[in-house]
Amino acid sequence: MYDCCPVCLGRLRRQVKTPCKHTFCKNCLCNVYKHSPAKACPLCRAPLEYYISKRNSTIKLVFFS
Ligand SMILES: [Zn+2]
Ligand SMILES: [Zn+2]
Repeated sequence: MYDCCPVCLGRLRRQVKTPCKHTFCKNCLCNVYKHSPAKACPLCRAPLEYYISKRNSTIKLVFFS
């Protein structure tokens, strides 16, 4: 069983795990971040804020509960 990304429904690529225990492609999570004003997990709507550094190609997740 593959891990599927709930955003693009494909196999996870460069998976990123959120503090609410959901996994997404890094690119998908970036897109959600850019296009969603709520900055929430697309699955469970947990409030989620994170910073994206394109320079070193990492996502730093910061969770506000
Ligand atoms: Zn995806
Ligand atoms: Zn979640």
